[in-house]
Amino acid sequence: MSARSKPPAKNGLAAKESRRLSPAVPALLDWFSAGKRWLPWREAPTPYRVWVSEIMLQQTRIEAVLPYFERFMKDLPNIPALSRVSPDRLMKLWEGLGYYSRARHLQAAAQIVTAQYGGSLPPDYDALRALPGIGDYTAGAIASIAFGLPTPAVDGNVLRVLARLTGSREDITRPAVRREMTALAAALLPRDHPGEFNQALMELGERVCLPNTMPDCDRCPLSAVCAVGHTPDAAELPVRAPKKTRRIENRTVFVVLSDEPQKRVLLHRRPPSGLLAGLWELPNTLHGALPPELPIDGEPVKLTDSRHIFSHIEWYMTGYAYTVAPFAPPPGYEWVSAAALQTDRALPTAFRAYAQHLPEWLAVNREECV
Ligand code: SF4
Repeated sequence: MSARSKPPAKNGLAAKESRRLSPAVPALLDWFSAGKRWLPWREAPTPYRVWVSEIMLQQTRIEAVLPYFERFMKDLPNIPALSRVSPDRLMKLWEGLGYYSRARHLQAAAQIVTAQYGGSLPPDYDALRALPGIGDYTAGAIASIAFGLPTPAVDGNVLRVLARLTGSREDITRPAVRREMTALAAALLPRDHPGEFNQALMELGERVCLPNTMPDCDRCPLSAVCAVGHTPDAAELPVRAPKKTRRIENRTVFVVLSDEPQKRVLLHRRPPSGLLAGLWELPNTLHGALPPELPIDGEPVKLTDSRHIFSHIEWYMTGYAYTVAPFAPPPGYEWVSAAALQTDRALPTAFRAYAQHLPEWLAVNREECV
């Protein structure tokens, strides 16, 4: 078993600041032990539960993850179950969490773990890091929390706390700065409590050393050693390069319902790569007209306008509904019943403004509900 093949080199910042900050680590551990949040994956921190929780928590708030985690664990209680589940059912379990490639990577990794490691995650940083969807942070979190290995886990919360503790004005989006901070975290890591230390730093960032505001330094167990605590500088750190502006797309979304007694809705499968790769969607176009492959005419009913923000794109959507006699779906399309929508046809959150009404629209006469 190896913690990692090569520990991060102790650079100048790590060497200098770890000597100054190390004496405060016990106070951080005490603070965490006395008041840590209750979280379901902390109740039984098996490697599988830690792994799934860490993947779900990427780019997603804890409160949003909680109901998904419980449902996921109930349906897919172990790695072999995750490796076998149908992709559509997996997407249904992930529906609404966003960043769907996380779920696909999770399953690809589960299949590798089942084939190569007998269905149990390997207790080794490098072997974890080699699995799909597991980067430096996630490998460090699983290795330290689930296996007790002395590996740092540096996410956005930890970067912010470390930047403030050290008073660093370096841009934390730069890889070299992240490496410096990772080396500092590794230097501070107590070898007997690596998982608690990593979780304590993260939780301090979530609950006390808050982003984009004045942190709550009065409640901080590290205030005695912090370079900027209780000063206006705290709210200005960390420094990060401004994000690129998002591309704007104006999309027209079509809710196409069949006029059968048991109504169905027409869905389209997105291409296997790119944004929302391989997911089902409501048909939509950038040019305002119906997709040319759909044999639909007649007057639509105007639906609400909607907006969805992805990391690099903003969709401004105008919706129209058609009720039509069912036709043979062109390649890539499928008529989907209300029952299938409940179990294994997930629609991305981008379409929520329309999708949230589908159960009602599929259950009653079209004219009554728009
Ligand atoms: Fe953050 Fe304040 Fe604690 Fe420093 S003292 S780590 S700024 S909460």
